[in-house]
Amino acid sequence: MTDPTAVSIRNVRKHFGDFVALSDISLDITDNEFFTLLGPSGCGKTTLLRMIAGFESTTAGEIWLYGEEIETLPPNHRPVNTVFQSYALFPHMNVAQNIGFGLKMLGWPDSEQQARVDEMVQTVKLQEFVHRKPAQLSGGQQQRVALARAIAPKPKVLLLDEPLSALDLKLRQQMRAELKSLQRETGITFIFVTHDQEEALTMSDRVAVMSSGELQQIGSPVEVYEKPANRFVADFIGETNLLDATVNEVVDGSVHCTLASGEVIVAETDVMNNALPVGTQGLVSLRPERLTIHSSGTLNANTIKGTLTDTTYLGTDTQYDVQLNDGTVIGVRLQNVSGQLANLSGGHTVELSAADGSARFLVD
Ligand code: ATP
Repeated sequence: MTDPTAVSIRNVRKHFGDFVALSDISLDITDNEFFTLLGPSGCGKTTLLRMIAGFESTTAGEIWLYGEEIETLPPNHRPVNTVFQSYALFPHMNVAQNIGFGLKMLGWPDSEQQARVDEMVQTVKLQEFVHRKPAQLSGGQQQRVALARAIAPKPKVLLLDEPLSALDLKLRQQMRAELKSLQRETGITFIFVTHDQEEALTMSDRVAVMSSGELQQIGSPVEVYEKPANRFVADFIGETNLLDATVNEVVDGSVHCTLASGEVIVAETDVMNNALPVGTQGLVSLRPERLTIHSSGTLNANTIKGTLTDTTYLGTDTQYDVQLNDGTVIGVRLQNVSGQLANLSGGHTVELSAADGSARFLVD
């Protein structure tokens, strides 16, 4: 049996006066999914989250939660809870009181409230801190209280608005793992908003990449990284080299194209063959870590020639900057595997080859 749809966003638009914050967004989020809205500041992800929560109205379109259209349902009647970036804990209440607050508001019987608070305290590992006030807790501990408080009333959907951004890097990495296992344990559908692509890739079942109020691509972390739909996604997620290219021929999803440097390269694409007539202008995306660098003369298939202009040792990796015939500089990242440091220095003529299937042809 397939999972039911938890949240269905159907042709949703949001205008603030003349400004279009969201234009025609449609997407379905599955029950039990860890779904992330990812995009740069101002792309509209918080606005979409606020509309699901009921804090913002839609200009057009519909939002359905578990088969129910929710436009007229006030926020406190939606089976949804939100964790905010600022935690928004009550400073005068201790940990247990903060976690139990929602249950009290919902009129849970005292004994059930107590049992649920105890359970949540265990889940977020705050047993030692139940009597402390928020000011006596670290940022990470406060974040756990906010999560426990939001999860305690057993919402069907948890909305998380950049909840890790106030934490330092180490804690953020630790909390990513905790959030992911919390989602698995509780089975609650998580909708997570972030501008941090690493957060999105490490935690999510699926990611919706957004830009300027529009959806750019929805897919698993592997799909959006390995098969970006367009220039924006390729550039926003991870690092990439984008080279101007012209289509020569398309054979079964492989595009033979000429780069501005004059060399011919074969790249993969999901664009239908008949949408790529000879002469179509586009881009080839080459991930730096999928390129290998050789001294000149090896001449593998799918090779680009250039001159090594800079080498930067980065500990785990070394970055090589290579200038092509047309002046374009592209980056190559090689892992510093013991005893295999490439012995290359500036000014060398080198050849670059892309791992099988790693070059992507994009039309915009
Ligand atoms: P961030 O990561 O910075 O929070 P975001 O992707 O979540 O960005 P939103 O907060 O959804 O972006 O805002 C989307 C756009 O809508 C922004 O340009 C913002 O200035 C605008 N906007 C949001 N709320 C309002 C409002 N109440 N009135 C006018 N414009 C608004």
